[in-house]
Amino acid sequence: MVAKEDKANCILCKIVAGTSPVSLIYQDENIMVFPDLYPINPGHLLIIPKAHVTSMVDLEPEIAADMMKMAIRLDKAIRKSHFQCQGVNIFIADGEAAGQDVFHFHLHVIPRFSGDGFGFKYDKSKHFLKMERATLNDAAKEIKAILEEI
Ligand SMILES: [Zn+2]
Repeated sequence: MVAKEDKANCILCKIVAGTSPVSLIYQDENIMVFPDLYPINPGHLLIIPKAHVTSMVDLEPEIAADMMKMAIRLDKAIRKSHFQCQGVNIFIADGEAAGQDVFHFHLHVIPRFSGDGFGFKYDKSKHFLKMERATLNDAAKEIKAILEEI
């Protein structure tokens, strides 16, 4: 496995550098857009920052904003294209436990179709269980306090 900080062996840095092939859709000073080589569905696109950033926590907020604005434009473009999707997922895997497998931050724009068979797996015995208000209030209080510090 490639080390998270190993830019020299990062596939997305190689694409940015022009040493790996890409079917380029868009680029500017900070971001790049191209189709995913291993799509969930045809029309699956990636938006990446050109700078090697492993996690979303290290991403410049202005670049994150540019990426989200681009995601909205790509959502529109995919719907107008021949892919004729019925929905779109915007997906970020930030960290190995969240499913990140390429450690150069990237945002997925994924065309979706009814019955396409893709989705999160979950366990009804432990996920989507209604929380007690007091527990939610405790979580809100803690996160609010941290937000004031960062
Ligand atoms: Zn990289």
